[in-house]
Amino acid sequence: TNRPLRRALVSVYHKEGIEVLAQAFIQAGTEVVSTGSTAAKLKELGVQVTEVSQVTGFPECLDGRVKTLDPHIHAGILADMTNPDHAQQLESFGIKPFDLVVVNLYPFADTVRSGADNAAIIEKIDIGGPSMVRGAAKNSATVAIVTDPADYALVAGRIAGGTGFSLDERRWLAGKAFAHTAAYDATINEWTSAHWPKPASIEDNSEGADAMEEAKLKQFPQTYTRSWDRAHVLRYGENPHQDAALYLDPLNTRGFANAEQLGGKPMSYNNYVDADAAWRAVWDFAPQIAVAVVKHNNPCGLAVAATAAEAHRKAHACDPMSAYGGVIATNSTVTLDMAQSVRPIFTEVIVAPDYEPEALALLQEKKKNLRILKVAEPPKSKLQFRQIDGGLLVQSTDLIDATGDMPDAWKLVAGEAADEQTLKELEFAWRAVRCVKSNAILIADDMATVGIGMGQVNRVDSANLAVERANTLDEGRNRTQGAVAASDAFFPFADGAQILIDAGVKAIVQPGGSIRDEEVFEAARKANVTMYVTGTRHFFH
Ligand code: 5GP
Repeated sequence: TNRPLRRALVSVYHKEGIEVLAQAFIQAGTEVVSTGSTAAKLKELGVQVTEVSQVTGFPECLDGRVKTLDPHIHAGILADMTNPDHAQQLESFGIKPFDLVVVNLYPFADTVRSGADNAAIIEKIDIGGPSMVRGAAKNSATVAIVTDPADYALVAGRIAGGTGFSLDERRWLAGKAFAHTAAYDATINEWTSAHWPKPASIEDNSEGADAMEEAKLKQFPQTYTRSWDRAHVLRYGENPHQDAALYLDPLNTRGFANAEQLGGKPMSYNNYVDADAAWRAVWDFAPQIAVAVVKHNNPCGLAVAATAAEAHRKAHACDPMSAYGGVIATNSTVTLDMAQSVRPIFTEVIVAPDYEPEALALLQEKKKNLRILKVAEPPKSKLQFRQIDGGLLVQSTDLIDATGDMPDAWKLVAGEAADEQTLKELEFAWRAVRCVKSNAILIADDMATVGIGMGQVNRVDSANLAVERANTLDEGRNRTQGAVAASDAFFPFADGAQILIDAGVKAIVQPGGSIRDEEVFEAARKANVTMYVTGTRHFFH
């Protein structure tokens, strides 16, 4: 089934790596047909090239929109030479078949990223390229299609050896080619859906805004998931026996996944998970300066302060034991003062928008293993995915910007209205609790967490855990007295709230909405504890 590669069609936007192919073409005397600048490049490398326009008898035109779109090219790609009828037809038309097609496409995503205007972006939608790629991939019976420059050396070897590829190999190459064009069109579609929304003049079959939203969520993942086309293979996954890779979103190249690493060992799967959680957590507090310390996807300390160093000291003090081997994130520049505060603590990853030069030098020098990440932009993903067996769950991202997240929309249901400072503390606790895995109870004081109860399957255990953490971790000091508390979802019974009240908190914020709300409010009233309900909940699983 091997077919020697005697006649090749080459049309590549990216010319990198083409030298190795040129060498092989020259040595084997391959007949090469090529488009404008690819032809020029190959000639420069000493290859004898036939221009596509010579084959088609038609000039490249419309600013390159029409180059290879011609039967003299496409019949040569699509003729199945194992079929005598096809072979005979080609001969009667005077068209020669191709054995090899090498194409890479106009850089659509790069053009979007470069900030080019719409006209320039549209011009970078490749038309002839995908047609050749799909044609050659369809005709893997006789044609080898190469879209990945990483395969050039392989192809060069087969040209030089005179063996070409076997049918199985051509089919494998065809699969890669279809993946390439699928991702390419998905990326274009993602851009069009962001820039060319459905106009009001087009009626929707289903009614109302909800239906529109629903339709958007149903359609989006079909393309969205396929366009994550560039992978970094990771050493392993959550555990050493699991394989893992990181896929990047070609239209969001400044977010967390593209962090610039300024020091330390390569990022692991768990590092990415934890550091992303920490990064997301600190941006919930912007424009205030915040620091989060995260372990196993849960915060073991969160604080805001006037400086990054102070915020770190406060966040760390919440639970110094758990902070060992954690991830530290801040939404502010890491100052020398903060770097000094981080230095003595064993930390896996630090992530920040920037570093003072002296801070960076200190961390790089004193902490060789610390992974130091710099991220250009705050999180902006609008959708979240979770795989289940046989399916994919998609939801819009939970942002902390609902009306109920703002204290002026809260409803006072017990005790006296909080003074300004207490209200600030409550707002801090409310923002912080949504970064904690459900069921989440969080106790805060002085704009820092002091006790966090996370991931329990009932709210009483979470409340007990939060109180216990607050009061046993800091050498017997009672950190719950006069503090404030937040719960990520309503208290189904009064018991969870009672634990916080008994521990001495002065105010509690929670979503409300339980059928036993009145019992919960009553418990607070009895103890003269202030309680607000938000009407919004922030489960996080
Ligand atoms: P070159 O740089 O050789 O002038 O052009 C190579 C690029 O043109 C490749 O990225 C290829 O996919 C693309 N291309 C080839 N034929 C056509 C065509 O007929 N129309 C368009 N729009 N692009 C083409």
